Amino acid sequence: MHLQDILSDIEHIAKTTVSKEATAIDQEGKWPENSIRELQQAGLGGLVVSKELGGHGFGLHAIARACEILGQVSGSVALCYGMHCVGSAVIGAKATDEQKEDFLKPIAQGKHLTTLALSEPGTGAHFYYPQAQLLPLSEDQFILNGTKSFVTNGNHADSYVVTTAGVDPEAARDEFSCLVLRNDTPGIAWGPEWKGLGMRGNSSRSLLMKDLLVPSHHLLGDIGDQLWYIFHVVAPYFLTAMSGTYLGIAQAAFNEARTHLIERSYRHSGTTLSQNTILQHRIGTLWSKLERTRQLLYHATLEGDKEESTAILPILSSKAEIGYTCVDVVNEAMTLMGGIGYSQHSRMDVLLRDARAAHVMAPTTDILYTWLGRALLEQPILDS
Ligand SMILES: Cc1cc2nc3c(=O)[nH]c(=O)nc-3n(C[C@H](O)[C@H](O)[C@H](O)COP(=O)(O)OP(=O)(O)OC[C@H]3O[C@@H](n4cnc5c(N)ncnc54)[C@H](O)[C@@H]3O)c2cc1C
Repeated sequence: MHLQDILSDIEHIAKTTVSKEATAIDQEGKWPENSIRELQQAGLGGLVVSKELGGHGFGLHAIARACEILGQVSGSVALCYGMHCVGSAVIGAKATDEQKEDFLKPIAQGKHLTTLALSEPGTGAHFYYPQAQLLPLSEDQFILNGTKSFVTNGNHADSYVVTTAGVDPEAARDEFSCLVLRNDTPGIAWGPEWKGLGMRGNSSRSLLMKDLLVPSHHLLGDIGDQLWYIFHVVAPYFLTAMSGTYLGIAQAAFNEARTHLIERSYRHSGTTLSQNTILQHRIGTLWSKLERTRQLLYHATLEGDKEESTAILPILSSKAEIGYTCVDVVNEAMTLMGGIGYSQHSRMDVLLRDARAAHVMAPTTDILYTWLGRALLEQPILDS
């Protein structure tokens, strides 16, 4: 299937099922069951799974575009779907034959939902320094202990891509391990649901892992190559999914403001706001801001899909830039819409709250600019 056909399918689902569910997602904090299941049933669960395994074989650009479309209707749906795609890409990066059968084929068939469980309460935004412990119990089993925080898709997912500290206690801090944990592993427990200001349907919660037995064939890649995972798979895919999501939110806010300026007319003058020069200038500025970050993201993902080594800088930069664009565009759009835009439970209310998550989702905006600076100054990217 061509990317354009996939995007048309996603657009159709966004305009129908996602749109119908969007208010309940925000107001009731409902996990978007109908939207996610429909995306899976339409064969879109395997967006980034290879074609040999039944997926579509797409990469970074497709994730960005898919999340951008979904984010225009519901930030939470884009986030939940995006996390599934990022998790699929991480599993697929160095999958063994067993992992292909157990995880990737069911993902492509729409029967398996995965997600990322990287963040921990102890290391917060520094998700690349996990403290969860993975110790060998026997030749074919590990024992896993630790806590993951803010796990999007919570207990709705069938599996979790989990990071843990190095198996060797003497291992360097960045020699962590990465594995896939099944939801039905005996002993898995959940903390209370986290209630966010926005992104209220993503069902984030803490995953409590106490003495869990994990088969050794669930290890992703080799011990010690996990930094490769972070910079070659997790960061590019995650940043791209989130950039698309927040770009979609910003676009939705822009559309609301534009419609308001066109439709709002005054009885005293018979003019519409679209005829006001200052407001014309302001909407032009907003469009420019939105479009230049969109072009940065599209450029970054197309280069990333070609595996250009130079792509990492625009990929890092695009999430940081879109964080600012999203918050600024939503703020400005709200001002342009006057009291109507400021109403509780209005579309702008949801967009403003969803947008704010852009800066704090790791890698956070501040950390991304620091990584960029370090890369440009030929310093090690991660802090010591
Ligand atoms: C809606 C939502 C969904 C999420 N979903 C997931 C998920 O599915 N999986 C997952 O693993 N995680 C998820 N997270 C977690 C998220 O990615 C972050 O890891 C987490 O929000 C940041 O941790 P913290 O709150 O402890 O922030 P803290 O670590 O307390 O950081 C607070 C602030 O300090 C800044 N800061 C910290 N250190 C530095 C530094 N060295 N330089 C500059 N600034 C610094 C940070 O940028 C941040 O702004 C989600 C978070 C949100 C809000």
